[in-house]
Amino acid sequence: MIRDAIRLRSVSRSYGSADDAVTALDDLSLSFTEGTFTAVMGPSGSGKSTLLHCAAGLDRPTSGSVLLGETDLTALSETKLTLLRRQRIGFVFQSFNLLPALTAEQNVALPLRLGGRRPGRSEVQDVLARVGLAGRARHRPGEMSGGQQQRVAIARALITHPDVLFGDEPTGALDSTTGREVLRMLRAMVDEQRQTIVMVTHDPVAASYADRVVFLADGRLHGELTAPSAESIAARMTRMETVAC
Ligand code: ADP
Repeated sequence: MIRDAIRLRSVSRSYGSADDAVTALDDLSLSFTEGTFTAVMGPSGSGKSTLLHCAAGLDRPTSGSVLLGETDLTALSETKLTLLRRQRIGFVFQSFNLLPALTAEQNVALPLRLGGRRPGRSEVQDVLARVGLAGRARHRPGEMSGGQQQRVAIARALITHPDVLFGDEPTGALDSTTGREVLRMLRAMVDEQRQTIVMVTHDPVAASYADRVVFLADGRLHGELTAPSAESIAARMTRMETVAC
């Protein structure tokens, strides 16, 4: 059965006061199907981060609603939203955001501990093995490469079995070979475990790992590509930038 993991309905987000308001998202409606990998692209300032933050419950739309399965995030109190984020959403950042004093396994266990649960050792081992880091459990971030650190961050995001894994330029700080390893891993999670992934990226090669690319311009949807190639994505981006100039 095809179901949407996340649905944005007429979402607008503006910043600032009425006189000098900036509209980051403008009446945007968009769905992300369960078990699919979507890349979000668009020129700088087009609303990509705002979209990701609103969809992940890190920011609240000015109007419209965001549905995670059947749950309307915009109707939740701050406390309930925090709990929901902890239990049902995974988020991976460009800069890894690991705690340097903690080992890989302690970093991965953190979301469970924050939720008041003592994680089982095999639970943490399993997820580290899924990202190919079974042998690195006792290493601290400073003792690992960028790609390994990002894989720890992905393991940390997956430990709660989130409905959706969001990535904000997750390969932006990695060299292209390491970045591709991480992208192949994300792709395998979608293909083998039906993980839903939504990733913001500037990179057409990174976006080509997705099933679908959605393009934003001025906070609105500006077309999409399915089963995209890096070339078709790059051509679309060039066209968008030419129109914008
Ligand atoms: P992108 O991720 O595509 O670069 P953003 O979502 O960061 O775009 O920003 C969209 C628009 O909203 C931009 O014009 C940006 O300047 C504005 N914006 C984003 N965050 C804020 C904020 N906290 N305060 C004021 N304006 C913001």
